[in-house]
Amino acid sequence: MDSTPDVLPDLLEKVTNLAKRRGFFFQTAEIYGGFRSTYDYGPLGANMLRNVRTAWWKSMVQGRSDVVGIDAAILGPPAVWAASGHLETFTDPLVDCLTCKERWREDKIGGVCPNCGSTQFTEPRAFNLMFKTQAGPVEGEGAVAYLRPETAQGMFTNFNNVLATTRKKPPFGIAQIGKSFRNEITPQNSIFRTREFEQMEMEYFVPPAEADEWYRYWIDARLKWYHDLGVAPSLLRLHEHAKEDLSHYSKGTTDVEFYFPWGWDELEGIANRGDYDLTQHSTHSGTRLEYFDQTANERYTPWVIEPAVGVTRALMAFLLAAYHEDEVEGETRTVLRLDWRLAPYQVAVLPLSKKPELEGLSKEVLATLQRDFMCDYDVTQSIGRRYRRQDEIGTPYCVTVDFDSLNDQCVTVRDRDTTHQSRVPVKELARHLHERTTLAV
Ligand code: ATP
Repeated sequence: MDSTPDVLPDLLEKVTNLAKRRGFFFQTAEIYGGFRSTYDYGPLGANMLRNVRTAWWKSMVQGRSDVVGIDAAILGPPAVWAASGHLETFTDPLVDCLTCKERWREDKIGGVCPNCGSTQFTEPRAFNLMFKTQAGPVEGEGAVAYLRPETAQGMFTNFNNVLATTRKKPPFGIAQIGKSFRNEITPQNSIFRTREFEQMEMEYFVPPAEADEWYRYWIDARLKWYHDLGVAPSLLRLHEHAKEDLSHYSKGTTDVEFYFPWGWDELEGIANRGDYDLTQHSTHSGTRLEYFDQTANERYTPWVIEPAVGVTRALMAFLLAAYHEDEVEGETRTVLRLDWRLAPYQVAVLPLSKKPELEGLSKEVLATLQRDFMCDYDVTQSIGRRYRRQDEIGTPYCVTVDFDSLNDQCVTVRDRDTTHQSRVPVKELARHLHERTTLAV
């Protein structure tokens, strides 16, 4: 049995308020009243999204010799989506409440209208989630294009290109990070489910006999990624789908679930897609997408293991997991205990006062640190207030330049989590912070 983790009441509200107040994310076109569950990421959110992507890319591509990256187009011709099965089966069951007329996704509401409590609905209709558009100035069937609802198909359609240009052989993977679009019926819960979002997906091609072993391997590796980035293990669990709930392509799917404020929900999916995709694209395109194993002198269609996660959904989970309230010097403070690799700023440089004498050295310190770290610079308000502002956005280190610094060429480094302060020579500052950040892994 899983135990239910202890989380703060109103956590969702607290985190979404913080996100807006400090500039992680805002509603799109807010000045026009917002736009249908679409979000823009502000200065802190944009930094953090980059950090989430980088952490994933480092673990999935940079740190491995068996995975390469691509960056495929968002727009694609219908033929791709006919082959992948999306045109026919990428649908959600849509129902209308007979009482209040709201539209819902039938499988998400448990038979009760979340708006008015009614249990009377229309018959479910299959609603395709893909955004359809037109490429070029001429309308008509030939011009139809779709925005991709997942990044994965780019890895399949480029399978031969990657094999030919990299000389990889199974087991090997193709990874991609990019935007995907789904016309979700009921987007909800802040940035958890939106119509425009970003995904990080990797298709790992393996000899069919090794598929199950690699499926287990990637479940384990992906769960560890979250642990390594500081998410408490009690907030994560694995959920293996029952055979009858599997998607049309899947031979097995396990979700990494996160304990969101509304309960356990999918953060990432790891699927064993069998040879479904390469076979479908081979048949539909007439181009063989296979691997020729020279040693065994045989041609085969690799099976695919796919870990897939939303960048934006991961960002939300990292924020929720990091949000804490504790007590410092008799005062409650809000602190985001984000891993330094994810924090929007790793360092804040804070001159003790606005006096011009401190500005020269402070700006010098800032310029040195900016070569290696994302830095904030803040001169307004008392130093205590400024520490709190940095704690609230998860900055792991604050560097304070004071009047003594002008004489002894030392600055004070304050640690977000312990609030411990130490005096460090300016000359050694970058090295000091590097040691702390890399050793903190
Ligand atoms: P659901 O059943 O919840 O609609 P799914 O199981 O179809 O989603 P996948 O196709 O497996 O989702 O997508 C892989 C990952 O992409 C998900 O685990 C999630 O992290 C992310 N994702 C999918 N849809 C959205 C969305 N609308 N908004 C944000 N992230 C999404």
